[in-house]
Amino acid sequence: MIGTVEVIYRGIFQKHLGQHITRGIVLAGRQEGKTGISFGRYGDSPERNGIPAKSFAVVADTEDELQVHLSRYEPTNNDVTVLVDDTLCKGVESWAWYGLQPAHKLTRPGGTLLVTSMQPPEELLKDCHRKGTEWQLAVLPGIASFSGLWVYKDDHTDVRVLGAIAKLAPHIVKLESVEAAIRDEWKDELKVASARKAGERVRTRRVGPAEGNPETPYSFELLKWHEMKEGLVIPAIPVKEEVPGWSGGYRPGRNPTFKKFATRTMRPVVDFETCTKCTICWLQCPDSCFDITPTGHYDANMDACCGCGVCEAVCPVTDCITMVNEQAFTDNASQFAAYEQDPAAYKAWLTETIKNKAITHRSHGFRYRGQYAEELAQAGPEGTRRSGD
Ligand code: SF4
Ligand code: SF4
Repeated sequence: MIGTVEVIYRGIFQKHLGQHITRGIVLAGRQEGKTGISFGRYGDSPERNGIPAKSFAVVADTEDELQVHLSRYEPTNNDVTVLVDDTLCKGVESWAWYGLQPAHKLTRPGGTLLVTSMQPPEELLKDCHRKGTEWQLAVLPGIASFSGLWVYKDDHTDVRVLGAIAKLAPHIVKLESVEAAIRDEWKDELKVASARKAGERVRTRRVGPAEGNPETPYSFELLKWHEMKEGLVIPAIPVKEEVPGWSGGYRPGRNPTFKKFATRTMRPVVDFETCTKCTICWLQCPDSCFDITPTGHYDANMDACCGCGVCEAVCPVTDCITMVNEQAFTDNASQFAAYEQDPAAYKAWLTETIKNKAITHRSHGFRYRGQYAEELAQAGPEGTRRSGD
């Protein structure tokens, strides 16, 4: 029998986390006399910060089964797909393919999408695309675990995910094997306890074929060979994009096909009333995201924003730019257009949106025992359903 798991993570920031999980699955499988392999895709270079990448684990009863399975490029019918950041529910676009793919695209019919999140399944389903077949959504309570380029700040997310996988798909690995593998690999009884409790905490919900986000994921057609120009010709991006009615405004030309919304975990929310039009965000944004509106305001264009947070850091006006978790948004529409249409309604929306610190918070490591339980408690009723370590 074959068992496959794919872990989708944010390139670089969660690289080690993805590796720990898939390696842990193979080590747990070995405790049961199985054979297996863990390998990565798309996430090996620093410039891919935040870009969705994947790590796979394949566990088999025999070497022959494993060899047959690995003769294809990558597993396409996974028992479990893991998202270690819930903003990935909106879909993933790596540098290696074109357009947005539903997060569960490679999950087999009836398989499980396991998400680490402080949000209830119903909220995540607003982002997860319809699959056309039945599947299962599983939520492991926890905030997204991010770290730096070469560091790994351990907050037990790796072993919690392993414990949850053992609960959801025991035909791949059993909890006792996960516990034994953790003891062998990390020699840490606290991690063993975290894995065990994760199995108790994970919540599941069956999802029907027509449930979920009805949006058709963004896609575009590549040029056919007969449409290409002779020689190697790459058209330059125009300096300026003309926007009807934007006399006095300026929108830089951008790549019409490469969108960055799958890279983003947070986005800036701009208070146009307190903005002094100082230009600093426009100058400092590394992705030239800001459109200059005819009124001289700076509107962060959500097709171009990668969510780095530089604009929030450099804006000299207190709370004029606030980074907010992607989960708070359902589209990529212009904030300035909403402000222009109804400033009072925009202000009310802004006030409400930037307040949501529970899902904005990021984990930067496990600093003391009990921290995870505190985080769950701070997140409200969903997180306080059970208390533990
Ligand atoms: S977060 Fe701000 S600075 Fe960073 S890409 Fe987006 S608009 Fe630009
Ligand atoms: S940095 Fe802040 S105050 Fe300056 S233009 Fe940008 S949003 Fe306005």
